[in-house]
Amino acid sequence: MPTDRAISLSTRLEDLPGIPARSIPGLRELGLSNLGKLVAHLPMRHERLEAEAPVEELEAGHIVSVRGEITATRVVLRRPQRFEAALMDDGRRLDLVWFNALYMRDKVKPGMRVRVQGKATKFGPGLQIANPKLEILKDDAEPVQSEARIRPVYSANERIKSPAIEQAIGAVLPLALPLLKDHLPSSLLSRHELPELARAYELVHTPRNEGDAEEGRRRLAYDELLLLQLGVQMKRAHLRERLRAPALTLTEAIDRRIRARFPFALTPSQNQAIAEIARDLSLSTPTNRLLQGDVGSGKTAVALYAMLTAVAAGHQAVLMAPTELLAEQHHATICTLLRDSKVDVRLLTGSRTDAEAVRAEIASGKAGIVLGTHALLEEKVRFKSLALAIIDEQHRFGVHQRAALRAKAQDAATTPHVIVMTATPIPRTLALTMFGDLDVTTIRGMPPGRAAVKTRLVPRSKRAEVYSFLRQRLDKGEQAFVVVPAIDSREQTDSAATVTGVKELVRELESGTLSTVPLAPLHGRMKPTLRTEIMDRFRAGEIRCLVATTIVEVGVDVPAATVIVIEHADHFGLAQLHQLRGRVGRGTTPGVCILLADEPGPDAPGPNPRLELLVKTNDGFRLAEGDWEIRGSGGFFDARQSGLSSLRVADLARDRELLELARRDARGWIERSPALAKPEEALVLRRMMKTFGTELGLVAVG
Ligand code: ADP
Ligand code: MG
Repeated sequence: MPTDRAISLSTRLEDLPGIPARSIPGLRELGLSNLGKLVAHLPMRHERLEAEAPVEELEAGHIVSVRGEITATRVVLRRPQRFEAALMDDGRRLDLVWFNALYMRDKVKPGMRVRVQGKATKFGPGLQIANPKLEILKDDAEPVQSEARIRPVYSANERIKSPAIEQAIGAVLPLALPLLKDHLPSSLLSRHELPELARAYELVHTPRNEGDAEEGRRRLAYDELLLLQLGVQMKRAHLRERLRAPALTLTEAIDRRIRARFPFALTPSQNQAIAEIARDLSLSTPTNRLLQGDVGSGKTAVALYAMLTAVAAGHQAVLMAPTELLAEQHHATICTLLRDSKVDVRLLTGSRTDAEAVRAEIASGKAGIVLGTHALLEEKVRFKSLALAIIDEQHRFGVHQRAALRAKAQDAATTPHVIVMTATPIPRTLALTMFGDLDVTTIRGMPPGRAAVKTRLVPRSKRAEVYSFLRQRLDKGEQAFVVVPAIDSREQTDSAATVTGVKELVRELESGTLSTVPLAPLHGRMKPTLRTEIMDRFRAGEIRCLVATTIVEVGVDVPAATVIVIEHADHFGLAQLHQLRGRVGRGTTPGVCILLADEPGPDAPGPNPRLELLVKTNDGFRLAEGDWEIRGSGGFFDARQSGLSSLRVADLARDRELLELARRDARGWIERSPALAKPEEALVLRRMMKTFGTELGLVAVG
């Protein structure tokens, strides 16, 4: 075995003193193969371990910790189903019960010595703990816990459990701490009263109390957010300083010509957005702007204005949509608006047979405005002179797609201006994080003459009434959508209910309530030609009702559609539901959105708060903030594709203030040192690249 002096962060577990050999395979499986990796395995959370007390001293109403022997167990099958056990300690009995957890019978057997923790309540003559935390004590049982303490909880696996990880880390931490070099300057740390890196690790792995654990976590969370923001700002600086985009000047004559194309006057909010965008486009600094506006707020008109600015200056513009349906719809809308103009509008999607010809027109510059899907990103798509790239519904694409579209410019020093549009309002916190490199324009309010949407939450037991209501509205000549979560029906594992699919629902409605109504299915497994045909017939009013999957979620714009019924509403995300209801009320008749909710299970705390929120507000921004509060960062916005998935410590809902701090600090830092190229910045640069380089697409920056 090497001496202490030879130990470094890359020393393998086998060569470290103090790690039990039986723990090593499990640790390795977790990817923790050396000292550095082991101590970087941070606790997911901390839990309080109460001081142990004998059963005799327990009091009802308190959280208690007790050890003893399991003397009897039984399973109760009648409701509520439960597993019960008796724990004996020094001749005194404590009852334990686990509800809806029959699997406990395989885990807890008479004769075992265990430690349990939970809230004691009165139970007959004695005490009971319901759903206690349980730890099975080995022969070499841990010593009695005589004082309450805080313990780290690590993500673990089948081979190794959290306490063994805690033990292994505890054993080697003193060796690792002196080796941990801080990458942040001490001035920054003292300004925010943050501990040094090594101290932070010590605090989270071996806290003496809650305060310790939080102090350590705070440093590591700030650190993580700062690295992310440094990356984001660095990318922005690179873009602004090294790359050039065509400066698109806008004359009054061009402005007038473009406006004449719209059959309506643009709203003040649209005009404001256009002014901001036009200013961006007139510079050779590449635009990188987020255009957000609620469903139906009129972003497409703004996008078209911008694209025509590019075309008027002799360049090309492209708009990429997340689905073929949406790309087709943009194509139809824009072709209508530009009828009899000199602008050539082209559509490029994966399923089109004329792709080859369209690519040729893109390459020759004949195609002025190009609409399409990610088929646009293919290598063989080359533009003659791309000045503007717009990405619709950015939340469905990742950072990479934005970069790929940028790379479609004619040479390496040039880039198109980029605008990303989203109708999924992004809470400010998130906008700052993932789009920290974007400027934000928001369209508020709706175009005039737009009737609002009323949303109703209806329990499944009233389903028949919902469909007879729908029938009445269809009989009046209105049109409707019925949306379900799946194409084929499926059993649910966690409840008795079956999820109805598109196909089955069409059969059900055709042979029942809607038997005389022309209706049609619409879903992603259909041939594109059939889909287009159905959409055209729906738009023409021949088909009155579409039974669809979420394929109609974005962009479908049929003003005569007034009612949308959403089956199994609780299966959809809030953002999706908001998008879906945006499909109705687009004309002058008020829209109605009916959310059919499955009956809540026996354990449900009550009505679904997310669906209630949807009923309460029509404002997508309020909805996003509200959902943010209910669910935290995993909610409204799908963070998975956005680079945020690599946040291990910071919790965006909880750490908003830290995020603001980190953002401000990163801004200042990158202003002073745009490439983090000073020798004393080598470590912070390396760690930033390692954590976020790939996700931010920073590798190419060098
Ligand atoms: P978004 O993409 O933001 O959801 P769209 O651009 O599709 O919204 O616009 C929704 C509808 O509103 C379209 O039918 C569009 O023609 C119409 N519209 C857009 N701007 C105006 C306006 N200023 N006045 C009247 N109608 C408008
Ligand atoms: Mg749109």
